[in-house]
Amino acid sequence: MIYEAFCGGVFETNCYLVSAPEGTILFDAPQGACEWLERKDVDLKLLLLTHGHIDHVQDVAKIKRRFNCQIGCHPLTAPMISDKDFFRNFGFELEIEPAKADFFVEETPARNFLGSEFRVLEVPGHCPGSLCFFSQKGELLIGGDVLFASGVGRWDLPGGDVDLLFSGIREKLFPLGDAVTVLPGHGPPTKIGTERLTNPFVSEQ
Ligand SMILES: [Zn+2]
Ligand SMILES: [Zn+2]
Repeated sequence: MIYEAFCGGVFETNCYLVSAPEGTILFDAPQGACEWLERKDVDLKLLLLTHGHIDHVQDVAKIKRRFNCQIGCHPLTAPMISDKDFFRNFGFELEIEPAKADFFVEETPARNFLGSEFRVLEVPGHCPGSLCFFSQKGELLIGGDVLFASGVGRWDLPGGDVDLLFSGIREKLFPLGDAVTVLPGHGPPTKIGTERLTNPFVSEQ
């Protein structure tokens, strides 16, 4: 599966552009993603969100306005992008331009997005409703902030849970196969096998 990556915003958040048979899909929308898509002259059809943390959704409303694409996310992510004060309620002085989800995505063995099939895994612990999108055919996991190269997502933010995070990685992500490439929300790509053997938090060694 061919993908392109863009990294934007002060938290250096990754987003990934994937060409599906019926159109282009963007996973996550960090600051600057909209301008990046415009520069590339992409005709974006679908925006899927791994989770609702502000650095991953900053450009959602802008992208919706510019491309009029569909927005899909977990039900727990929806209020994080539609409620301007969501983050303020947790004591963060952050605000986003609100946007509405067009449809919900939840854990499922197979779901078709614009002609590409993904298994959707729900792996909370970093953020409630956090989704990982797995393309069996592409041996690719768009994982959000769950599993990083030599790291894992932080679990000390509101709704975080270290046990859920670690067990989710071990029970849902590791079985996908050592050869699978992980495209994380921050930092470089890695392989499931590399993390299964050497990750300082969750390795099985
Ligand atoms: Zn996050
Ligand atoms: Zn993040």
